Amino acid sequence: MSGTTLTQPTSRTVTALADGRQLIYYDRGPAVPRNTRDERPLDPRAPGSEVRLDPATGDWVTVAAHRQARTYRPPAEECPLCPSRDGRLSEIPAEDYQVAVFENRFPSLAGPPAAPVHGADGLWTGGPGAGRCEVVCFTADHDASFADLTPERARLVLDAWTDRTAELSALPGVRQVYCFENRGAEIGVTLAHPHGQIYAFPFTTPRTARMAARATAHRADTGRNLSDDLLAAERAHGERVVLSGEHWTAFVPYAARWPYEVHLLPHRRVPDLTALDERQRAEFPSVYLELLRRFDRLFGTGRTPYISAWHQAPAGLRDELALHLELFTIRRTADKLKYLAGVESGMDAFVNDVTPEDAARRLREVAQ
Ligand SMILES: [Zn+2]
Repeated sequence: MSGTTLTQPTSRTVTALADGRQLIYYDRGPAVPRNTRDERPLDPRAPGSEVRLDPATGDWVTVAAHRQARTYRPPAEECPLCPSRDGRLSEIPAEDYQVAVFENRFPSLAGPPAAPVHGADGLWTGGPGAGRCEVVCFTADHDASFADLTPERARLVLDAWTDRTAELSALPGVRQVYCFENRGAEIGVTLAHPHGQIYAFPFTTPRTARMAARATAHRADTGRNLSDDLLAAERAHGERVVLSGEHWTAFVPYAARWPYEVHLLPHRRVPDLTALDERQRAEFPSVYLELLRRFDRLFGTGRTPYISAWHQAPAGLRDELALHLELFTIRRTADKLKYLAGVESGMDAFVNDVTPEDAARRLREVAQ
């Protein structure tokens, strides 16, 4: 065991792919020999991206034109996330694996930081797209999804997310580590294999920056933490609570933007995954798997497309921003999707077709 944040009996093996990218295996139980070499003739890594600050809004935008060439919805027999078997070589040279993490071949962000570049009398601020993008494979089973994982495997994924958060947060220039999963072709997923991604950003993301401003203002007004107050209010009110464990509560937020949107928070506030204690970690798989399975039961259409987004406090905001997971679907009925159109995309003003109270009730009804 080499990762300082890993709890026994998880082991981690760091290897390299043919073009030098890191590939890390996470295994439950004793360490598994992970020395199969990547024999593919890979091109050198793509050139880097750049980040630019929108002078009108203060939002950072990543410009990554090189990603146009990335793999787009390959057939299952060409899946780059399946193990390498029967003479077919994938991104993962092993014949089998439990959880595997590797640097994205077409990253939006990569490399070390550099001083920002300014132009036009300080109006334009930009720089290299420093940071790192990783792919997290949840299982070697191409046809599974996260909701199918055992609690033990979900715990191993949590351990991998935690380990990556610790390591990526320590990289020079990284301000925020974002672990997430897009599930379903409706969301725009280009690879069907169950996987998530991690972005290590060189800036604080726009949504996090807005949340930080609200939390700072709440502290100034009340002397209290905003996340603590919101969680306590939702738990006391109860109407929007979806499920509650001993250490975690999931609720539909008062002003949810998406038809079905759930926020999952640990009762003891922590800034990021690395600060969860063992009791919180132990309970997480059962709570999260239950939420995902309820999402899949909502519409009678099988797997519901969703985005699952871990919010973690960036550097400098660890005292106020709380770790939480935001899980939402763009599906509003069995045959209707919520698209971001003129109101949302043009103005960032959401119109939600389902009341948060109805969404919470539905998500309680589909419990088993
Ligand atoms: Zn696959």
